Amino acid sequence: MKLLEEYIRTYGEVPNDDVLKVDAFLNHQIDTRLMMQLAEDFKEHFKDQKITKIVTIETSGIAPCVFLGYLLHVPVVYMKKNPSKIMTDDCYHTNIHSFTKDRDYEIVISKKYISSEDNVLFIDDFMANGEACLGAIRVLKEAQATICGIGIVIEKAFQSGRKQVQALGYDVYAQARIASLKNGTIVFAE
Ligand code: 5GP
Repeated sequence: MKLLEEYIRTYGEVPNDDVLKVDAFLNHQIDTRLMMQLAEDFKEHFKDQKITKIVTIETSGIAPCVFLGYLLHVPVVYMKKNPSKIMTDDCYHTNIHSFTKDRDYEIVISKKYISSEDNVLFIDDFMANGEACLGAIRVLKEAQATICGIGIVIEKAFQSGRKQVQALGYDVYAQARIASLKNGTIVFAE
């Protein structure tokens, strides 16, 4: 998506060869106009799917999903990370290794908000090694929901996420694909 690439070129920061920071429009400050454009793009890409629910993981997946949920007239459910004691619902849960924090965390989703009736579009802000996406797939499968699409805002194509997810038989749609971040230079995949 050309507009997203422009944003990444303009505002993206590259602290090291593996990490892209987009705090200016997605991970800290949120550019609402861009979020709507991302949502429109996802809507168009997944137009043939009968989506009943959009699922993401807190926090940064939520913003584009809210706009998309609004456009599609479907609810958005975000998996909670390391739930607090007030999360008393019966939940599906799994552990995920965090690429950015280099430690494990738990994600949970209440059984109230996901079921075998659901046709889920899973969306996340970034894909690196695919841990978050694989964790979400595990949970959604346990809930017997159908996964009808996987959408990622920014894929770091030099990491293994897409391969891992495709090995399970799912396709991944990424709005921007980064081929390399070496030496502070952002190179997009063709
Ligand atoms: P994965 O689970 O695919 O290894 O990593 C994806 C998750 O880690 C995303 O949900 C995102 O929160 C975080 N992440 C991975 N790489 C980056 C990155 O380069 N920049 C930012 N901002 N987040 C990242």
